[in-house]
Amino acid sequence: MSKTERTYIMVKPDGVQRGLVGAIIARFEQRGFKLIALKLVQATTEHLELHYADLKGKPFFPGLIKYMASGPVVAMVWEGLDAVKTGRVMLGATNPLASAPGTIRGDYALAVGRNICHGSDAVDSAEKEIKLWFPEGLTQYSHSQENWIFE
Ligand code: UDP
Ligand code: MG
Repeated sequence: MSKTERTYIMVKPDGVQRGLVGAIIARFEQRGFKLIALKLVQATTEHLELHYADLKGKPFFPGLIKYMASGPVVAMVWEGLDAVKTGRVMLGATNPLASAPGTIRGDYALAVGRNICHGSDAVDSAEKEIKLWFPEGLTQYSHSQENWIFE
């Protein structure tokens, strides 16, 4: 059964520098997802280590944290049917070379360490990531297109 979910999507520093913020937002908007939260943030190393806590100990971890702290990121929350799984499909594979054309990484990236966008991998990690990046809470509003996107 499809469920309404929220996912945490983040344009990484390379995506911001390469001017891909609008293109990435447009894909989620056009698919019918509802924008719940959005901000530009220069994340600290400590904050990024919490975000990627599960990967601590991996050989690429120090480089990943340095990359993610190298400039501002765009933090977003998107809501809709199967938002977590669908967001991952829209992103493509972790390694852009293995990502199909038509996916964000498959269209805009080549290197695993510069793959321009993050998306939560499960509903519970989405909840954790949303709390970590938006401790101030989220805005509530109704989306005028809802009745045209859902049965
Ligand atoms: N990463 C990397 N080298 C690797 C695997 C991952 O640099 O061999 C980076 C890459 O930017 C990836 C991030 O670490 O997006 C987080 O890894 P994860 O396995 O969670 O991939 P994701 O969930 O982002 O697809
Ligand atoms: Mg991940």
